[in-house]
Amino acid sequence: RGGRPEREIPFIQPGSLTRVYAVASGKGGVGKSSVTANLAAAMAADGVRVGLVDADIYGHSAPRMLGVEGSRPTVVDSMIMPIPAHGVKLISTEMFKQDRDTPVAWRGPMLHRALQQFLTDVYWGDLDILLLDLPPGTGDVAISLAQLMPNAEIVVVTTPQLAAAEVAERAGSIAIQTHQQVAGVIENMSYLPCPHCGDEHRLEIFGSGGGQLVADGLGRRLGASIPLLGEIPIDIGLRESGDVGIPFVLKEPDAPASAALRDAARRL
Ligand code: ADP
Repeated sequence: RGGRPEREIPFIQPGSLTRVYAVASGKGGVGKSSVTANLAAAMAADGVRVGLVDADIYGHSAPRMLGVEGSRPTVVDSMIMPIPAHGVKLISTEMFKQDRDTPVAWRGPMLHRALQQFLTDVYWGDLDILLLDLPPGTGDVAISLAQLMPNAEIVVVTTPQLAAAEVAERAGSIAIQTHQQVAGVIENMSYLPCPHCGDEHRLEIFGSGGGQLVADGLGRRLGASIPLLGEIPIDIGLRESGDVGIPFVLKEPDAPASAALRDAARRL
Protein backbone atom coordinates (compact mmCIF):
# COMPACT_ATOMS: atom_id res chain seq x y z
CA ARG A 1 0.00 0.00 0.00
CA GLY A 2 1.36 3.41 -0.94
CA GLY A 3 1.94 6.32 1.34
CA ARG A 4 -1.04 8.48 0.68
CA PRO A 5 -4.32 7.69 2.36
CA GLU A 6 -7.09 6.32 0.18
CA ARG A 7 -9.50 9.02 -0.88
CA GLU A 8 -13.21 8.52 -0.45
CA ILE A 9 -15.62 8.34 -3.35
CA PRO A 10 -17.72 11.49 -2.97
CA PHE A 11 -20.81 10.03 -4.65
CA ILE A 12 -21.36 7.33 -2.04
CA GLN A 13 -21.06 9.55 1.01
CA PRO A 14 -24.21 9.91 3.08
CA GLY A 15 -25.99 13.03 1.94
CA SER A 16 -24.59 12.94 -1.61
CA LEU A 17 -27.30 14.24 -3.93
CA THR A 18 -25.64 12.95 -7.11
CA ARG A 19 -27.60 10.29 -8.95
CA VAL A 20 -25.33 7.74 -10.58
CA TYR A 21 -26.29 5.82 -13.72
CA ALA A 22 -24.16 3.14 -15.33
CA VAL A 23 -25.04 2.55 -18.96
CA ALA A 24 -24.62 -1.09 -19.93
CA SER A 25 -25.21 -3.24 -22.99
CA GLY A 26 -25.02 -6.92 -23.76
CA LYS A 27 -22.71 -6.50 -26.71
CA GLY A 28 -20.84 -3.83 -28.62
CA GLY A 29 -22.20 -1.85 -31.52
CA VAL A 30 -25.73 -1.31 -30.22
CA GLY A 31 -25.08 2.40 -29.70
CA LYS A 32 -24.43 2.45 -25.95
CA SER A 33 -21.73 5.10 -26.24
CA SER A 34 -23.71 7.22 -28.71
CA VAL A 35 -26.74 7.10 -26.44
CA THR A 36 -24.70 7.90 -23.33
CA ALA A 37 -22.90 10.86 -24.91
CA ASN A 38 -26.21 12.26 -26.16
CA LEU A 39 -27.95 11.71 -22.82
CA ALA A 40 -25.12 13.61 -21.14
CA ALA A 41 -25.25 16.47 -23.67
CA ALA A 42 -29.05 16.66 -23.43
CA MET A 43 -28.85 16.83 -19.64
CA ALA A 44 -26.19 19.56 -19.77
CA ALA A 45 -28.33 21.53 -22.23
CA ASP A 46 -31.17 21.28 -19.69
CA GLY A 47 -28.91 22.87 -17.06
CA VAL A 48 -28.19 19.61 -15.25
CA ARG A 49 -24.67 19.43 -13.78
CA VAL A 50 -23.48 16.23 -15.37
CA GLY A 51 -20.28 14.21 -15.32
CA LEU A 52 -19.40 11.33 -17.62
CA VAL A 53 -16.91 8.57 -16.89
CA ASP A 54 -16.01 6.75 -20.07
CA ALA A 55 -15.24 3.40 -18.48
CA ASP A 56 -15.49 1.55 -21.80
CA ILE A 57 -11.80 0.79 -21.48
CA TYR A 58 -11.24 -0.92 -24.81
CA GLY A 59 -13.89 0.83 -26.86
CA HIS A 60 -13.60 4.33 -25.41
CA SER A 61 -15.39 6.63 -27.81
CA ALA A 62 -16.86 9.39 -25.62
CA PRO A 63 -13.97 11.85 -26.25
CA ARG A 64 -14.41 11.56 -30.01
CA MET A 65 -18.20 11.78 -29.83
CA LEU A 66 -17.97 14.86 -27.62
CA GLY A 67 -15.25 16.48 -29.73
CA VAL A 68 -12.35 16.41 -27.26
CA GLU A 69 -10.33 13.48 -28.55
CA GLY A 70 -6.64 13.83 -27.69
CA SER A 71 -7.24 16.25 -24.79
CA ARG A 72 -5.08 15.71 -21.76
CA PRO A 73 -6.46 16.64 -18.33
CA THR A 74 -4.48 18.96 -16.09
CA VAL A 75 -3.74 18.18 -12.45
CA VAL A 76 -4.41 20.85 -9.82
CA ASP A 77 -3.57 20.21 -6.17
CA SER A 78 -3.16 16.52 -7.04
CA MET A 79 -6.70 16.36 -8.39
CA ILE A 80 -7.36 15.50 -12.04
CA MET A 81 -9.50 18.12 -13.81
CA PRO A 82 -12.16 16.57 -16.06
CA ILE A 83 -12.32 17.88 -19.62
CA PRO A 84 -15.34 20.10 -20.33
CA ALA A 85 -17.16 18.98 -23.47
CA HIS A 86 -20.46 20.57 -24.51
CA GLY A 87 -21.22 21.30 -20.86
CA VAL A 88 -20.35 17.75 -19.76
CA LYS A 89 -17.43 17.06 -17.42
CA LEU A 90 -15.69 14.14 -19.09
CA ILE A 91 -13.00 11.72 -18.05
CA SER A 92 -11.92 8.76 -20.20
CA THR A 93 -9.24 6.12 -20.35
CA GLU A 94 -8.41 7.61 -23.74
CA MET A 95 -7.02 10.65 -21.93
CA PHE A 96 -4.41 8.54 -20.16
CA LYS A 97 -3.12 6.51 -23.07
CA GLN A 98 0.48 6.92 -24.13
CA ASP A 99 -0.45 7.33 -27.75
CA ARG A 100 -3.56 6.69 -29.73
CA ASP A 101 -2.33 3.55 -31.45
CA THR A 102 -1.30 1.61 -28.37
CA PRO A 103 -4.21 -0.53 -27.24
CA VAL A 104 -5.04 -0.59 -23.57
CA ALA A 105 -4.26 -4.00 -22.12
CA TRP A 106 -5.29 -3.66 -18.52
CA ARG A 107 -6.17 -6.59 -16.35
CA GLY A 108 -8.91 -6.85 -13.74
CA PRO A 109 -7.13 -5.29 -10.75
CA MET A 110 -5.81 -2.40 -12.85
CA LEU A 111 -9.25 -1.77 -14.26
CA HIS A 112 -10.62 -1.64 -10.76
CA ARG A 113 -7.88 0.76 -9.72
CA ALA A 114 -8.48 2.98 -12.76
CA LEU A 115 -12.19 3.16 -12.12
CA GLN A 116 -11.58 3.91 -8.46
CA GLN A 117 -9.20 6.69 -9.44
CA PHE A 118 -11.73 8.21 -11.80
CA LEU A 119 -14.15 8.37 -8.91
CA THR A 120 -11.80 9.55 -6.16
CA ASP A 121 -9.02 11.56 -7.81
CA VAL A 122 -11.04 13.54 -10.33
CA TYR A 123 -12.28 16.93 -9.26
CA TRP A 124 -15.97 16.56 -10.17
CA GLY A 125 -17.33 19.37 -8.02
CA ASP A 126 -21.07 19.27 -7.34
CA LEU A 127 -22.87 17.05 -9.82
CA ASP A 128 -26.56 16.34 -10.20
CA ILE A 129 -25.92 13.27 -12.33
CA LEU A 130 -22.88 11.08 -13.00
CA LEU A 131 -23.09 8.79 -16.02
CA LEU A 132 -20.75 5.86 -16.59
CA ASP A 133 -20.28 4.35 -20.01
CA LEU A 134 -19.52 0.70 -19.19
CA PRO A 135 -17.81 -1.79 -21.50
CA PRO A 136 -20.28 -4.15 -23.20
CA GLY A 137 -21.18 -7.39 -21.46
CA THR A 138 -20.94 -8.43 -17.86
CA GLY A 139 -17.26 -7.94 -17.24
CA ASP A 140 -14.84 -6.84 -14.56
CA VAL A 141 -15.77 -3.19 -14.79
CA ALA A 142 -19.44 -3.79 -14.01
CA ILE A 143 -18.48 -5.86 -10.97
CA SER A 144 -15.91 -3.29 -9.82
CA LEU A 145 -18.44 -0.54 -10.21
CA ALA A 146 -20.99 -2.42 -8.14
CA GLN A 147 -18.39 -2.85 -5.40
CA LEU A 148 -17.28 0.76 -5.50
CA MET A 149 -20.70 2.32 -6.01
CA PRO A 150 -23.54 0.05 -4.95
CA ASN A 151 -25.84 3.06 -5.36
CA ALA A 152 -25.26 3.21 -9.12
CA GLU A 153 -28.40 2.40 -11.09
CA ILE A 154 -28.14 0.50 -14.35
CA VAL A 155 -29.50 1.74 -17.68
CA VAL A 156 -29.55 -0.99 -20.35
CA VAL A 157 -29.17 -0.15 -24.04
CA THR A 158 -30.31 -2.70 -26.59
CA THR A 159 -31.44 -2.85 -30.20
CA PRO A 160 -34.90 -4.24 -31.06
CA GLN A 161 -33.36 -7.48 -32.29
CA LEU A 162 -34.36 -10.47 -30.18
CA ALA A 163 -30.87 -11.98 -30.13
CA ALA A 164 -29.49 -8.65 -28.92
CA ALA A 165 -32.23 -8.38 -26.31
CA GLU A 166 -31.30 -11.74 -24.82
CA VAL A 167 -27.70 -10.69 -24.16
CA ALA A 168 -28.85 -7.27 -22.99
CA GLU A 169 -31.12 -8.87 -20.42
CA ARG A 170 -28.20 -10.94 -19.22
CA ALA A 171 -26.09 -7.78 -18.81
CA GLY A 172 -28.90 -6.08 -16.93
CA SER A 173 -29.54 -9.05 -14.70
CA ILE A 174 -26.12 -8.61 -13.14
CA ALA A 175 -28.02 -6.10 -11.02
CA ILE A 176 -29.68 -9.02 -9.24
CA GLN A 177 -26.33 -10.32 -8.01
CA THR A 178 -25.03 -6.89 -7.13
CA HIS A 179 -28.29 -5.68 -5.57
CA GLN A 180 -28.37 -2.63 -7.81
CA GLN A 181 -31.42 -0.95 -9.26
CA VAL A 182 -32.22 -0.93 -12.96
CA ALA A 183 -33.39 2.57 -13.87
CA GLY A 184 -34.70 1.54 -17.27
CA VAL A 185 -34.04 0.31 -20.79
CA ILE A 186 -33.33 2.35 -23.90
CA GLU A 187 -33.97 0.76 -27.28
CA ASN A 188 -31.64 2.15 -29.95
CA MET A 189 -31.83 1.76 -33.72
CA SER A 190 -35.53 1.05 -33.23
CA TYR A 191 -36.49 1.88 -36.80
CA LEU A 192 -35.49 3.91 -39.83
CA PRO A 193 -38.05 6.55 -40.76
CA CYS A 194 -38.86 5.93 -44.42
CA PRO A 195 -36.60 8.19 -46.53
CA HIS A 196 -39.54 8.86 -48.86
CA CYS A 197 -42.63 9.25 -46.68
CA GLY A 198 -41.06 10.15 -43.34
CA ASP A 199 -41.98 8.95 -39.87
CA GLU A 200 -45.34 7.52 -41.00
CA HIS A 201 -43.69 4.47 -42.50
CA ARG A 202 -41.05 2.90 -40.30
CA LEU A 203 -38.54 0.40 -41.61
CA GLU A 204 -37.85 -2.02 -38.78
CA ILE A 205 -34.34 -2.96 -39.85
CA PHE A 206 -33.51 -4.85 -36.66
CA GLY A 207 -37.00 -6.17 -35.98
CA SER A 208 -39.05 -4.86 -33.12
CA GLY A 209 -39.86 -5.35 -29.47
CA GLY A 210 -36.37 -5.97 -28.04
CA GLY A 211 -36.42 -3.01 -25.67
CA GLN A 212 -39.80 -3.89 -24.17
CA LEU A 213 -38.72 -7.52 -23.93
CA VAL A 214 -35.63 -6.57 -21.90
CA ALA A 215 -37.65 -4.24 -19.66
CA ASP A 216 -40.27 -6.94 -19.02
CA GLY A 217 -37.68 -9.68 -18.53
CA LEU A 218 -35.64 -7.66 -16.05
CA GLY A 219 -38.81 -6.54 -14.32
CA ARG A 220 -39.79 -10.18 -13.78
CA ARG A 221 -36.36 -11.10 -12.48
CA LEU A 222 -36.10 -8.10 -10.20
CA GLY A 223 -39.71 -8.09 -9.12
CA ALA A 224 -40.06 -4.45 -10.13
CA SER A 225 -41.52 -2.46 -12.96
CA ILE A 226 -38.69 -1.45 -15.29
CA PRO A 227 -39.55 1.36 -17.73
CA LEU A 228 -38.67 1.50 -21.40
CA LEU A 229 -37.19 5.00 -21.38
CA GLY A 230 -37.11 5.54 -25.11
CA GLU A 231 -37.01 4.15 -28.63
CA ILE A 232 -34.32 5.94 -30.63
CA PRO A 233 -34.66 5.75 -34.41
CA ILE A 234 -31.78 5.20 -36.79
CA ASP A 235 -30.56 8.49 -38.19
CA ILE A 236 -27.56 8.87 -40.47
CA GLY A 237 -27.02 12.28 -38.90
CA LEU A 238 -26.61 10.69 -35.48
CA ARG A 239 -23.74 8.59 -36.76
CA GLU A 240 -22.19 11.55 -38.56
CA SER A 241 -22.44 13.87 -35.57
CA GLY A 242 -20.69 11.28 -33.41
CA ASP A 243 -17.88 11.14 -35.94
CA VAL A 244 -17.38 14.92 -35.94
CA GLY A 245 -17.71 15.37 -32.19
CA ILE A 246 -20.96 17.32 -31.91
CA PRO A 247 -23.72 15.47 -30.05
CA PHE A 248 -26.73 14.97 -32.29
CA VAL A 249 -29.12 16.39 -29.65
CA LEU A 250 -27.26 19.70 -30.02
CA LYS A 251 -26.59 19.54 -33.75
CA GLU A 252 -30.12 18.60 -34.83
CA PRO A 253 -32.31 19.15 -31.79
CA ASP A 254 -35.55 18.86 -33.79
CA ALA A 255 -34.83 15.42 -35.25
CA PRO A 256 -37.01 12.58 -33.87
CA ALA A 257 -33.91 10.77 -32.56
CA SER A 258 -32.92 13.90 -30.61
CA ALA A 259 -36.41 14.26 -29.17
CA ALA A 260 -36.38 10.62 -28.05
CA LEU A 261 -32.92 10.99 -26.48
CA ARG A 262 -33.96 14.19 -24.70
CA ASP A 263 -37.09 12.51 -23.34
CA ALA A 264 -35.06 9.56 -22.09
CA ALA A 265 -32.59 11.95 -20.40
CA ARG A 266 -35.44 13.76 -18.66
CA ARG A 267 -36.86 10.50 -17.35
CA LEU A 268 -33.62 9.70 -15.53
P1 ADP B 1 -21.49 0.82 -28.68
O1 ADP B 1 -21.06 1.85 -27.70
O2 ADP B 1 -22.69 0.03 -28.22
O3 ADP B 1 -20.40 -0.08 -29.15
P2 ADP B 1 -21.65 2.99 -30.60
O4 ADP B 1 -22.32 4.07 -29.83
O5 ADP B 1 -20.18 3.09 -30.80
O6 ADP B 1 -22.03 1.56 -29.98
O7 ADP B 1 -22.42 2.87 -31.99
C1 ADP B 1 -22.02 1.98 -33.00
C2 ADP B 1 -22.16 2.66 -34.34
O8 ADP B 1 -23.52 2.89 -34.64
C3 ADP B 1 -21.48 4.04 -34.38
O9 ADP B 1 -20.93 4.22 -35.64
C4 ADP B 1 -22.64 4.99 -34.17
O10 ADP B 1 -22.41 6.25 -34.78
C5 ADP B 1 -23.78 4.27 -34.84
N1 ADP B 1 -25.09 4.55 -34.24
C6 ADP B 1 -25.47 4.35 -32.96
N2 ADP B 1 -26.76 4.65 -32.78
C7 ADP B 1 -27.25 5.06 -33.98
C8 ADP B 1 -28.53 5.51 -34.47
N3 ADP B 1 -29.59 5.59 -33.66
N4 ADP B 1 -28.61 5.87 -35.77
C9 ADP B 1 -27.54 5.78 -36.60
N5 ADP B 1 -26.33 5.37 -36.21
C10 ADP B 1 -26.17 5.00 -34.92
